[in-house]
Amino acid sequence: MFKKEKYLLVITLLVTFLSIIIVNAQEVPIANSFRFPLEGDWSPLWQDFGKWNNQWNGYHLGEDVGREDADTKNYAVYPMADGIVKFADIVLGYTVIIEHKLPASDPDGDYVCSVYYHMKRPGEGGIKLTLGEVVSTDSPIGYVSGKRKDYKSLPHLHFGIRKGPYKSGKDPRTGFWYYPGYTTIKINNEVQKNPDDPTHEQILTDWFNPTADRPGFIESHIIQIEQSTIGASLYHIECSKPIAYGEKMAYLPVSVSGPADDLALMLTNPEGKMNIKFIPKTSLIDNFETRYLWMGEEPFSEGPYTLTVKTVTPEKVIYKREVWFTAPKNIQITGGEITLARKSNCYYVRDLVLKFKNDGDLPFFFERPQIVLPTPGHPLAEEQIFSLGRFIAVPSGEFKFDSRRILGDWFCYAGSSKILNATARLYKNGKIILTFPMKLTMIEE
Ligand SMILES: [Zn+2]
Repeated sequence: MFKKEKYLLVITLLVTFLSIIIVNAQEVPIANSFRFPLEGDWSPLWQDFGKWNNQWNGYHLGEDVGREDADTKNYAVYPMADGIVKFADIVLGYTVIIEHKLPASDPDGDYVCSVYYHMKRPGEGGIKLTLGEVVSTDSPIGYVSGKRKDYKSLPHLHFGIRKGPYKSGKDPRTGFWYYPGYTTIKINNEVQKNPDDPTHEQILTDWFNPTADRPGFIESHIIQIEQSTIGASLYHIECSKPIAYGEKMAYLPVSVSGPADDLALMLTNPEGKMNIKFIPKTSLIDNFETRYLWMGEEPFSEGPYTLTVKTVTPEKVIYKREVWFTAPKNIQITGGEITLARKSNCYYVRDLVLKFKNDGDLPFFFERPQIVLPTPGHPLAEEQIFSLGRFIAVPSGEFKFDSRRILGDWFCYAGSSKILNATARLYKNGKIILTFPMKLTMIEE
């Protein structure tokens, strides 16, 4: 009898624990798959993350993605990952906050909250959500509103990602809640107008840049998730940074090591164009092999490039990964120096360095790079032009270009050497798009 009771107790406890585990599993989904909240184009953004806004007197805490004809069309808004509704009410349009529990050891912490503004109100075609409701990436949480009262400017989705679990109450630093659209600061009923107030910077660091910042939160999580599925494979496959080739192409270096087998490597770019390369069985023995897969031609599309690796016989996918590559961005010359040697009235190029920066992942190509030195009063040419070749390819990151091509080139000029100066001049599609004043060093020979 006693034994039976004990047995029943154990069973009851077991059932209770199991049901707690099951209920918990349903209530706290792990955000292990990510997506963009809208179908279709995410860029160009109407307003990027971190931009100062004069109307709101604050930095923008999300990204604005336009859907101008939202009054006539339904644009579904999806949660960026599975999560729990923590807020759903009318703020500026229907406004929703979803808390996401990130997978263990995620470098971005245990929790994040995604924020969606300017959706249709329930009762006006929107979706009514309840607090605590579990949402998933395959069903919409609302629709972009086409009513002016819901967005003020033009129909768009405002999408932000704040670090940490959901936080209720007022942020004492700003006087507003923790999920505003801007870092607006209101103290004693007065909005501060100083963009340099360090509080703005502080608040910005509570948020992630949602997308496309080499890469943004969403893209880096899409990549992470794909990577975590690779562990099971016997193959080790790695992509490096895209490299520039020729006057307008980019290739992706892919290295493979693993059991000897005939492999096919396929890369599909965002336009759906595919390139295929093979690795024969024999070259994989005790080795790793690198193949360069064609990514496309300029202008490059930003977006997911899908890398698939298959065994040839039997034809079987052993690896698939989507990697997000951003378009060339914020191309700059960060430094330029030219050294001229003077022999009486003639000048010889002895050294030339140009430094570039590209914040995107894909390369950028300049046409007709040249160095120009004005020589007013020169009988033949008002300016001396040194051509650095037909093009310069600027890969991702920092890049130093030194041209051996023009070393030794020369010109003679009777005017004062003191008035000489040099400018780098770069073209795109036949137009000058960038100039840079070079540091000119003169040596006497
Ligand atoms: Zn916004």
